Amino acid sequence: MNLRCLFGYHRASLSSIARRQSGYSAICESCARPLERTSNSRWVASDPLYDTKGSSAG
Ligand SMILES: [Zn+2]
Repeated sequence: MNLRCLFGYHRASLSSIARRQSGYSAICESCARPLERTSNSRWVASDPLYDTKGSSAG
């Protein structure tokens, strides 16, 4: 885990960027988490650390 990722500064892998209906998605180079690009061109992790729907695997 990269320190930057802990603070929300993920680095999208250029080869993983894909176009979606809601915008762009990618995979973080450092922590391999799925990212989504926000309207202000910042990458954020698309899966939250907390889970409100109660589905936990593992
Ligand atoms: Zn990351």
